[in-house]
Amino acid sequence: MAEKWTKHKNSLRLVNPANKNKLDIIVVGTGLAGSGAASTLAELGYNVKVFSYQDTPRRAHSVAAQGGINAAKNYKNDGDSVYRLFYDMIKGGDYRAREANVYRAAEVSNQVIDHYTAMGVPFARDYGGLLDNRSFGGVQVSRTFYAKGQTGQQCLLGGYSALVRQVQKGKVTMYSRREMLDLVVVDGKARGIVARNLVTGEVERHSAHAVILATGGYGTIYYLSTLAVNSNGSAAWKAYKRGAMFANPSFIQIHPTSIPVLNDYQCKLTLMSESLRNDGRVWVPKKKGDKRFGFEIPEEERDYYLERRYPAYGNLVPRDVASRAAKERCDAGYGVGETGLSVFLDFKDAIEKQGKKAIEDKYGNLFEMYEKITGESPYERPMRIYPAGHYTMGGLWVDYNLMTTIPGLFAIGESNFSDHGANRLGASSLMQCAGDGYFIIPYTVTDYLADEIRTPKISTDLPEFEAIEKEAKERIDKLVGIQGKQTVTSFHKRLGKIMWDYCGMHRNEQGLTKALGLIDELAKEFWSDLLIPGDTDELNQEIEKACRVADYFEMAKLLCNDALNRKESCGAHFREESQTETGEAKRDDANYTYVSVWEYKGDNTQPEFHKEELKFEFVELQERSYK
Ligand SMILES: Cc1cc2nc3c(=O)[nH]c(=O)nc-3n(C[C@H](O)[C@H](O)[C@H](O)COP(=O)(O)OP(=O)(O)OC[C@H]3O[C@@H](n4cnc5c(N)ncnc54)[C@H](O)[C@@H]3O)c2cc1C
Repeated sequence: MAEKWTKHKNSLRLVNPANKNKLDIIVVGTGLAGSGAASTLAELGYNVKVFSYQDTPRRAHSVAAQGGINAAKNYKNDGDSVYRLFYDMIKGGDYRAREANVYRAAEVSNQVIDHYTAMGVPFARDYGGLLDNRSFGGVQVSRTFYAKGQTGQQCLLGGYSALVRQVQKGKVTMYSRREMLDLVVVDGKARGIVARNLVTGEVERHSAHAVILATGGYGTIYYLSTLAVNSNGSAAWKAYKRGAMFANPSFIQIHPTSIPVLNDYQCKLTLMSESLRNDGRVWVPKKKGDKRFGFEIPEEERDYYLERRYPAYGNLVPRDVASRAAKERCDAGYGVGETGLSVFLDFKDAIEKQGKKAIEDKYGNLFEMYEKITGESPYERPMRIYPAGHYTMGGLWVDYNLMTTIPGLFAIGESNFSDHGANRLGASSLMQCAGDGYFIIPYTVTDYLADEIRTPKISTDLPEFEAIEKEAKERIDKLVGIQGKQTVTSFHKRLGKIMWDYCGMHRNEQGLTKALGLIDELAKEFWSDLLIPGDTDELNQEIEKACRVADYFEMAKLLCNDALNRKESCGAHFREESQTETGEAKRDDANYTYVSVWEYKGDNTQPEFHKEELKFEFVELQERSYK
């Protein structure tokens, strides 16, 4: 396996420089995955068109990533290796990821760090000037590179600089404030997109020889999540409806350390990075309903439940385990804060041992963010945290070349079903996004385009473009024409609550079946009582939101059906019917060692279900234990 990617790369076909100049590629998304792919493909000589709905590529959601990015450099000499990173990811994902892809992600991780460092990303350095590392959940080594609590922002700035260099060279055309509304497939191949200019409302056609989606995750299906409010799953959903299969849609990671819901008016939740669990200790009072402030509760009256239940990994157990443990304590009546739906993350010991300055150096901006939102200083009082929807392991199904089931349509970064199985380990997403964008897709797209060198520029006058543009406009007109009484946000909030209650941290057959009925009822109400003020030919954010939420109503059903189908518990997918006596997730390897792959068959028809069997040749399937 260690040689598989090298051998595969050597077998992929090339395109000569003169031909590259004649080929167009669309990249949708400018996060770590999209900016990496676009700048690298442009450097190779292709003509690249890049789309993002933000006003600048620098605002892609990757900017929010806080804690770090993994690589198997073994700088700490603590026994790390490419194999160990691969093994940790396979185990962390509860043995529901493809071995070869995960190994490759671990392998290219080292190139990613070198590349970003060469671009000038200011990773933290130790006293001697070498790149520093810290730990993240589910591992026993320190392999996470970081830039304070702004790793995503710094990496994105590096990626953005390289992208803008290509814009200056004329090899990249940047289309900001454009939202892809649909994919155009001509003779079975992806040939372009239809996008809405969010400023003028104009619907535009764009063509290319290949299309790459780097559109991020769909965690906002819960409405409240750690993602930016505009993050959405529409691009992947539209690709699904045009023939790209969707894999493991119900695998959504719930992050254990978000600032909890404080009132009914919040539109998003703010993450407190997992890196904080390097030094912060998680606890609840030993006495039920104890309403004293954290610092008032003496040591002997505290239950450090993660250290108690999982001594081998302690506070650094993986996210799914930490989230369920927090929910269990709160459900049992030990939760803190007004709602009782939060637990403490306490830095008192770390500050005493290392000093305030050391803690400030590592987490200063996170502490500041926490204080701005809650009015409490984590230097003086423990933080209060609770799990929140965060990362989607599910996404568009891709082969080893990261191509979807539509020839010429690729999916990279969080938008594909990725290398994280049923649960992603912290700091492995940036690693995968950048690896996909810089070090995998340039080879595999080139292989695909080797067959396209005789294909002239794709005309946007083709009937397929015309038909899809018409469909997109009609959908917008239909939504605007409803003229009911309720806002998009009110529907999104209600849909999110259904998903959180029945397809969130815990799932069971009865709840999921109930959710399917509730989603149908709410969707009916949406399509008859939605109110969108304003017009279609202007900046109108209600239209943007309505298009995304309309897609979420459809996607929500696929998520519930997928969760119903998988009767085992694995990683973040916890089926209450399948748990051990101690309340841990119980896998069923005999029946569920597969990727669930769904094929769209029409709006009123059940999607067709396919299985990709997972074969483990290099790792033995074991019960996942962090005790
Ligand atoms: C708060 C937070 C903290 C995190 N911290 C870490 C961390 O420390 N380490 C780590 O490894 N991971 C972290 N993650 C996860 C990681 O940040 C993301 O998984 C990753 O950045 C996704 O990158 P991406 O390139 O796939 O997509 P994104 O960065 O999400 O970019 C999506 C792009 O697609 C564009 N787009 C989407 N839909 C459309 C459309 N229809 N039309 C046009 N453009 C579209 C957007 O404009 C944007 O440019 C964190 C996530 C969150 C939410």
